[in-house]
Amino acid sequence: MSGKGKGKRGAGRRKPQPQPQPQPQVVSEIVERLKGEYPEARCSLEHVDPYQLLVATILSAQCTDERVNLVTPALFRRYPDAESLAEGRPEEVEELIRSTGFFRNKTKSLLGMAGAVVERHGGRVPETMEELTSLPGVGRKTANVVLGNAFHQSVGVVVDTHVRRLSQRLDLTASDDPEVIEQDLMKVVPQEDWTDVSHLLIYHGRAVCKAQKPRCGDCVLSDLCPSAFAV
Ligand code: SF4
Repeated sequence: MSGKGKGKRGAGRRKPQPQPQPQPQVVSEIVERLKGEYPEARCSLEHVDPYQLLVATILSAQCTDERVNLVTPALFRRYPDAESLAEGRPEEVEELIRSTGFFRNKTKSLLGMAGAVVERHGGRVPETMEELTSLPGVGRKTANVVLGNAFHQSVGVVVDTHVRRLSQRLDLTASDDPEVIEQDLMKVVPQEDWTDVSHLLIYHGRAVCKAQKPRCGDCVLSDLCPSAFAV
């Protein structure tokens, strides 16, 4: 390349990407309308305590919550707490979770997580982002699920495939990166709604704003959505 034209206005530079700037009142309206549509929205992973939710969330990677809910009753009967799971035989755990996919890696994560919970935290699931994300197999998304739903702490927003798609369609983010999307949502959604907004977007993504054929004609957000009838 000759470098000809270097220094001329705009030459060789990437055009800056326009950043969406959702209005706070629009975002509040979106959240309120979704609350009206899905008053029952909650975490779909069945659990009775933080340990069960942590295990179920690890299993939910690349798997539906329905499938995880089919597998966990037998798993929790066999391993009711971190102590028992830490002692588990890998082959047995693999067999119990096989149908959730990636079962060898998930078994390693479950056994590593349980061992660390026993060794470092006396068998109790820790309650901070830092401690949770230092456990084997636990990333920010999993930690957010546990903190928001088992400990009722709003420290972040869970970004799954539905949350990512709807945030983009609603122009709440311009990013494809879950961590950036989370930060974008945290800027515009009131903190007390951080846990709920994720459930609400997931419910709406499953019921109406589907990946392939969003049902914009049936959508309570169509007058607020920049992508309405255009996907
Ligand atoms: S109007 Fe259409 S694209 Fe926008 S949120 Fe509703 S279903 Fe999704």
